[in-house]
Amino acid sequence: MQKFNKVLIANRGEIAIRIIRACKELGITTVAIYAEEDKLSLFRRKADEAYLIEDHRGPVDAYLNMDKIISLAKKKNVDAIHPGYGFLSENAEFAKKCEKEGIVFIGPSHVMMRQLGDKIQSKIVAHKVGVPTIPGVEKPIGSDEEAIEFAKIAGYPIMLKAAAGGGGRGMRIVKTEDSILKEFKSAQNEALKAFGNGDIFIEKYLEEPRHIEVQVLGDNYGNIVHLFERDCSIQRRHQKLIEFTPSLSITQEQREAICMDAIKIAKSVKYKNAGTIEFLVDKNENHFFIEMNPRIQVEHTVTEMVTGIDLVQSQILVAQGYALNSTEVGIDSQESIKMVGAAIQCRITTEDPHNNFMPDTGKLEVYRTGGGYGVRLDSGNGFTGAEISPYYDSLLVKSTAFARNFQDARQKAVRAIKEMEIEGVKTNKDFLINVLEHPTFIEGKCDTNFIDNHPELFK
Ligand code: ADP
Repeated sequence: MQKFNKVLIANRGEIAIRIIRACKELGITTVAIYAEEDKLSLFRRKADEAYLIEDHRGPVDAYLNMDKIISLAKKKNVDAIHPGYGFLSENAEFAKKCEKEGIVFIGPSHVMMRQLGDKIQSKIVAHKVGVPTIPGVEKPIGSDEEAIEFAKIAGYPIMLKAAAGGGGRGMRIVKTEDSILKEFKSAQNEALKAFGNGDIFIEKYLEEPRHIEVQVLGDNYGNIVHLFERDCSIQRRHQKLIEFTPSLSITQEQREAICMDAIKIAKSVKYKNAGTIEFLVDKNENHFFIEMNPRIQVEHTVTEMVTGIDLVQSQILVAQGYALNSTEVGIDSQESIKMVGAAIQCRITTEDPHNNFMPDTGKLEVYRTGGGYGVRLDSGNGFTGAEISPYYDSLLVKSTAFARNFQDARQKAVRAIKEMEIEGVKTNKDFLINVLEHPTFIEGKCDTNFIDNHPELFK
């Protein structure tokens, strides 16, 4: 057991605040890092200590500067680093460097990250334990010719995907042979630029799938549990916008099968800490593993609301060496985890739905939140007077509604967003309400193409 006295948060915005809160509740001192462009951001002031990381290459580089972050952590006697999501959270080299310097990386080991962070490798892991994966070529392709060969057998459309992909980048749907070369080159370039790795693989494109993912949590002793599923089918450009749990589009039998498959994958690598195992469910109700995210996710809030388990605190506790069934973590067994009620998270972004979701910037002249029973808000810079800069992602606040069932949670989600007054910067608030009030969403039966197929949402 290694009790943490001080944790450094290698992140910014809402997730930095979420982690700072978890640490404080556990009696741990928090250290924030920030880029010059974030000097007025709220997370900096919520931490016990905050230090500027100077990196003149650009506003995001401070959060990616492994050497400066680790050297600061050593200087300030930090026991552990929480990477949040994005930035260094899936960087195996960073996890390894932390370990070498005697600092705990709050997440899985670097070996696991290498195995699971890469979409090709993780498909191989799934395959080995008998979990279905989408038919495809499980190695990087060298040329468009290989994609053509695959499509001759599997048929169009096919999907080109970056092995290192994330955030919907490096992904292309190919409908005909004529466009393969162009799409292959552009996916490769995008992946190289975004991830420094241009490996592209192919799989069959599933028509109108639903995205169902399973939260897992493991300790350092091989104990692993799942915390049920999240339905993340409401997406724009393969990026999630609204997430909820439980899913209304799967049966209890499917839920059990999907959760068990997630456990199989996690157990096969003795997965440590929090992670998410993602699946697509096709029109024939078959589910396929697509990828594993070895970190906390933006949408973890909905799982916390229905299980009552604080995932970020659990991450910090298992990283200190507490077993899942210790009094501190408090998860006696899989059976002890119960899902009560329903939760829906909406990502309110400073984007203009009427202008192709272009990020908007400027001063928040007015920021008044929704609230009340069952409404949870996680925000990075939600306050009147805040400057919304163009340097980082455009997530303004996550509004999570929790109630006894999906319909009550949905009504609460609408009410909470309508209550919000935001002026000075454009947001997607009205668009979110249109989704929440759409008959297909009310039924809980949306697939991942829902937004593209419903132009009336933009009214
Ligand atoms: P990322 O890591 O970039 O988020 P994922 O592999 O998690 O990428 O996929 C993101 C989304 O892309 C999925 O939720 C789904 O909507 C879509 N997608 C991925 N693979 C396929 C596929 N083979 N067929 C259809 N849609 C897919």
